[in-house]
Amino acid sequence: MSADPDIVLRGGRVIDPESGLDAVQDVAVTGGQVTEIRDALPRSQADLNVAGLVVTAGFVDLHSHVNDIAGFSLQALDGVTTALELEAGVSPVQAAYQSAAAEGRPVNYGFATSWALARMEATAGVGLDGRLATFLANLGREAWQRPATPGQITAMLARLSADLADGALGIGVLVGYAPGTDPGEYLQVAGLAAEAGVPTFTHARDLVELAPRTLIDGAEEIVRAAGETGAQMHYCHVNSTSQRHIDRVLRLVSRAQAAGTRVTTEAYPYGSGMTGIGAAFLAPERLGERGLTPSSLTYAPTGERVGSEARLRELRQADPGGLVIIELLDENDPSDRELLMRSLTFPGAIVASDAMPLTWTGTAPDPLAWPLPGTAITHPRTAGTFSRALRLLTRDGGPLGLAEALSKCSLRPARLLQDRVPALRRKGRLQAGRDADIVVLDPATISDQASYLKSTRPSTGIQHVMVNGTFVVRDGNLVAGARPGRPIRAAPR
Ligand SMILES: [Zn+2]
Repeated sequence: MSADPDIVLRGGRVIDPESGLDAVQDVAVTGGQVTEIRDALPRSQADLNVAGLVVTAGFVDLHSHVNDIAGFSLQALDGVTTALELEAGVSPVQAAYQSAAAEGRPVNYGFATSWALARMEATAGVGLDGRLATFLANLGREAWQRPATPGQITAMLARLSADLADGALGIGVLVGYAPGTDPGEYLQVAGLAAEAGVPTFTHARDLVELAPRTLIDGAEEIVRAAGETGAQMHYCHVNSTSQRHIDRVLRLVSRAQAAGTRVTTEAYPYGSGMTGIGAAFLAPERLGERGLTPSSLTYAPTGERVGSEARLRELRQADPGGLVIIELLDENDPSDRELLMRSLTFPGAIVASDAMPLTWTGTAPDPLAWPLPGTAITHPRTAGTFSRALRLLTRDGGPLGLAEALSKCSLRPARLLQDRVPALRRKGRLQAGRDADIVVLDPATISDQASYLKSTRPSTGIQHVMVNGTFVVRDGNLVAGARPGRPIRAAPR
């Protein structure tokens, strides 16, 4: 070994989901990289005793809408070392990378380009600024949800291409929010992704069981695009858009995979979703399609359970981007819980959070205040997805072994992106020569603590988290001011 290590994680159970290593070893970290993993490294000043704990690769979240330090801090406390905005995406990505770099990030970050924002620009003249807030502010407008003209589609594709040239990690396609979109347009977007060699990340259109008048079944559309264009199609949060049709959707995906098309899935372990209250599928006259009523919705900024159709109309009008929690599956119902588990245990399924930006009741405090004041509200998945998934999958007789469950959180998401994104080849595994994105956790106690009422309570059982060799969580506590996160971009071609 050349230089003295910056730190040696000593005596932990080291699990690398790629090589299959699962043994008590020491891990040396030098200059932001893992430099050595073996038994009995020489003792030094740099030792940190992690005996009795698991040392593994940090989690790579493919689906994080978080855009502030507080939100990323909650994710770091859940074991996340890379948080990527891929489903909604942003545009222009250049602006998003610049503002993230200017502010600094505790975890690594990156962006897909956004079909929805490109569509808003082309069909409704919305000005783009690289922020998700611009999507939320406009999601309720009819103008961008209608069929587009060929000229508008050309403009959208040009915008997406420009972002891909600027290093966007893929194309986020929120087609479920614009039900008037022609299925042919979706195929054109998938075709562009295939040409560029990047994945797409889709929030599926309505399933035919839920909305018989949909232009095409949401699951069939994703699978068809994979078959027709050869693009890598990632099916976002299959748990929430499939509701009680998860088995049908997973059978379809399974057949498509067996036939050689590139379709992947992700899920988060909660029965409720969260989105802007102005979303097309939350229109009062459409709630019944999903078996919902206005009272299935809780408006996050006030904690108000929406009391009536009239009140829902009022809120959609006044604050279309206001976040709302939607009860989709009943976590207290054993058969619904089983459905959720099947979306997580599906072979190859990735754990991804769909973490949401924080909403503040009353005036927003100092954005760096920590611990978070009680006036911060989000979906509990923001703070708890990975710990909860590991608890459900591996503790108390859970169905998976630890290495397999961890691979859903780190290796599989890294592999999904790594063809075009060299940085991801160095993440998602714990091996000498890879980036020191490391989580040290207690497999016996790991658990989510956030609930719908206390949505920002950090997870427990995550002891240390390193990003590029720098601690962002140490001894279970956030390291204030640590900003070792780096931008992750696709390689030019
Ligand atoms: Zn979504």
